[in-house]
Amino acid sequence: MRAGDKRHFATRRTFLKAATGFAGLALSPAIIGRASAGGLAWAKGDPFALGVAAGDPMPDGFVIWTRLAPEPLSADPKTPGGMRGPDLPVTYEIAKDPAFKDIVRKGISAAEAKYAYSVHVEVTGLEAARPYWYRFSSGDAQSRTGRAVTAPQPGASLDRLRFGFVSCSHYELGYFSAYRHLADEQPDLVAFLGDYIYEYVEEKKPVVRRHSDGVEAADLRTYRNRYAQYHMDPDLQRLHAEVPALITWDDHEVQNDYADVWSQTFDKPAVFLDRRAAAYQAFYENMPLRPSLSQPDGPNMRVYDRYTFGDLAQFSVIDGRQYRSKPACYAPPKKGRGHLESNKSCPERLEEQRSMIGAAQEAWLRDGLSASKARWNVIAQDVLMAELRQKLDDGEIGYWTDDWNVFPTSRQRLLNHIHEAKVENALVLTGDIHSFFQNDLKLNFADPASPTVATEFVGSSITSPSAPYEYFAKYLPDNPHIKFFDNRVRGYVSMELTKETCTARYQAVSDVKDPNARVSTLKTFTVENGRPGAA
Ligand code: FE
Ligand code: CA
Repeated sequence: MRAGDKRHFATRRTFLKAATGFAGLALSPAIIGRASAGGLAWAKGDPFALGVAAGDPMPDGFVIWTRLAPEPLSADPKTPGGMRGPDLPVTYEIAKDPAFKDIVRKGISAAEAKYAYSVHVEVTGLEAARPYWYRFSSGDAQSRTGRAVTAPQPGASLDRLRFGFVSCSHYELGYFSAYRHLADEQPDLVAFLGDYIYEYVEEKKPVVRRHSDGVEAADLRTYRNRYAQYHMDPDLQRLHAEVPALITWDDHEVQNDYADVWSQTFDKPAVFLDRRAAAYQAFYENMPLRPSLSQPDGPNMRVYDRYTFGDLAQFSVIDGRQYRSKPACYAPPKKGRGHLESNKSCPERLEEQRSMIGAAQEAWLRDGLSASKARWNVIAQDVLMAELRQKLDDGEIGYWTDDWNVFPTSRQRLLNHIHEAKVENALVLTGDIHSFFQNDLKLNFADPASPTVATEFVGSSITSPSAPYEYFAKYLPDNPHIKFFDNRVRGYVSMELTKETCTARYQAVSDVKDPNARVSTLKTFTVENGRPGAA
């Protein structure tokens, strides 16, 4: 910082004032020179307090992310993260080694004022199938170092892929030890399956820490602060820095149990869409998502996409919330949220045109699965796909109205397609239900003898609690396709794919109330190439 230079910062707070004409990506050499010469000084607070992240590995690149936020939880809606003023240049460097001896790319990107000073750089032109290290700088501040990877070329021989999948990290209800233990495993990838944040403030259960602002997130400021607070968690921040991500969302990124324009609180769709737009924008601002895919357009934002890792795996990362049909039997006063309905009480559930992911995404998913040449075809998604029959007091079978159980026709179309198109080794990864399950996805759930067409792994939660064990355990005899169930522990799943086997290791943490919780393996499953279903 040059003494007396008041153009770029305010001394009392960290607000960066008009950075002399920098707008968007139209960079003048003068601006580049000033930033790289360290002429920009940060008066107070680390602008990289939220850390760094990488995502969406491609054969020639990936996206890298950071967000400038020297005052991460700023209460002023006009200064997200303590920032104001126009876009700001941020330097990024990509190297082949963690010490940055061999820097292969250096450039300037924009921390976009419009998007809470987030930076999303889509890096291309790199070598396939190798790790890279990256970091950002702004004036006299430098970020921590992150690690990213490029995917092998499609079709190139790949012998092994290791990845974890995670969901449901309620910050108030526990520490993120599960994220730390997954980072310790140094997998190639982590798939986030939703409920990355929780929008609400816990009012009944004992908490270990509090959501900032003290209110349910419902506007841009409060959603932004929620993500900022989660990114400051050391375990989550480290996981992002060390492991590249594939990301989708579930409901709590917006509101519990919402579906498309339908809120659990029966808001008018137009009103709810304003909230959804704020929530989606904050998600974009805080995640390593490619602008070319995911830059929000009002209340719409695409997150679903396909990723290929050589000849070994194709991931279809899907969006189970934005394009859903209206919830079945959705009516005030109570039934805006997930509940149980039978075919007698809610025949609407069986309607043919109902869809979990919308007709366009269904077609996109089917096309991608049939065209895939990969050995393993992974569908990374939010909510339980297996049928879960829950006997009601009146003797009828109840089905939960917030997961695939309320879209049986949509599920059947997908499973029929996997069977008929002979999709190789379909694996479904699931979050949401805060329980470990391992399920056979049957061509016909009513007939235990019908073929298993895909294998579902359901990964408990990072911290979020589940129902009492008996609540689900008592239904297991009526659901013979459910091969394993335990909701008494929190954790994540570590997967390893080879040409011949898929291994799923269910990892449980000792206590979410203990910031130093240990991890142990609860159960390990194997799927053999060509034989759907796990043992
Ligand atoms: Fe959850
Ligand atoms: Ca959920």
